[in-house]
Amino acid sequence: MRIPFLDLGAAYRELKPEIDAAVSRVLESGWYILGPEVEAFESEWAAYCEARHAVGLANGLDALTLALRALDIGPGDEVIVPSNTYIATWLAVSEVGATPVPVEPDQTTHNIDPARIEAAITSRTRALLPVHLYGQPADLDPILDIAQRHGLRVIEDAAQAHGARYKGARIGAHGDIVCWSFYPGKNLGALGDAGAITTNDAALAERVALLRNYGSRQKYVNEEAGVNSRLDPVQAAILRVKLGVLDQWTERRRAVAAAYNLGLAESGLILPHVPDWADPAWHLYVVRTSDRDALQGRMTEAGIGTLIHYPIPPHMQQAYAGLGIAPDALPLAHTLASEVLSLPMGPHLDKNANRFACQSIYRNI
Ligand SMILES: *Cc1c(COP(=O)(O)O)cnc(C)c1O
Repeated sequence: MRIPFLDLGAAYRELKPEIDAAVSRVLESGWYILGPEVEAFESEWAAYCEARHAVGLANGLDALTLALRALDIGPGDEVIVPSNTYIATWLAVSEVGATPVPVEPDQTTHNIDPARIEAAITSRTRALLPVHLYGQPADLDPILDIAQRHGLRVIEDAAQAHGARYKGARIGAHGDIVCWSFYPGKNLGALGDAGAITTNDAALAERVALLRNYGSRQKYVNEEAGVNSRLDPVQAAILRVKLGVLDQWTERRRAVAAAYNLGLAESGLILPHVPDWADPAWHLYVVRTSDRDALQGRMTEAGIGTLIHYPIPPHMQQAYAGLGIAPDALPLAHTLASEVLSLPMGPHLDKNANRFACQSIYRNI
């Protein structure tokens, strides 16, 4: 038995008739940039996220970058980011010319630790940029409270958290602006690159919509120096099909996570901790062990695909050598990077595969 980490082909096969019809509809419409398909997805995505506005974009990194630009964050500004995240969170801050200032995670949830944020705030800090890592919401109430007391904006990186809930409310409009990726492997995945922002602030939504389209509302009239980061209508049509099954597929992920929780309870691995106010989207099921590399090697030999999210924290990447952050300045990010292991997870992992993965772990730890 071979178990892939994630089976994207199975996702397409399950929805093939609907997806093929949606793609044909766009191809036959003669409308290939923005237009009705993108607008329909934007309103459906906003409604799903319990947000007033959504703006479709080319990818998740652009969502973060344009959110920062829409808030006028740029050179000389600092933005507080998690020390352990996918590097895109940091890169967006760098791309607008601001400086990412890392804050260490809560070790039990892997999300930014609100208790450590205030010590990192300076007179240059403009925004807090929490990430809902692995699909589990960050603890937003204390983050929003700190932001309010210090006059900061909150940008959420929700690239892994489609459908997650914080204290009962969907991720989508707690902060000023929420950034989404629909990269194929995400819980709501396009069949190519795609992204979006959601927000309750009409002015911010309008600013992002302007920036994504050359800073232009009216053709050949440019109000500001924007970019081209438009959501492709073919991807919008595919996303509308997949949005229809998102809750059902999240349920399947939840069942996989529940089976791991039960199956691995005696394994000695540190299993995901879910605070009672969190309803995760289960983008990833991440365990921790100091013997990670050996376990991963033996699982690979047994035919079970695992991944590491993420093996090198941003501050230890060559890309950020210029910030001059010593590797041991962020010990938690460093430790997590050497101990985390993501097990096979997805809406198409069946019960047998789920059980086989657990058994293989018992044989190999
Ligand atoms: C995937 C991801 C992004 C970037 O999304 P792209 O669409 O690949 O640009 C940003 N942040 C996090 C946490 C992600 O997982």
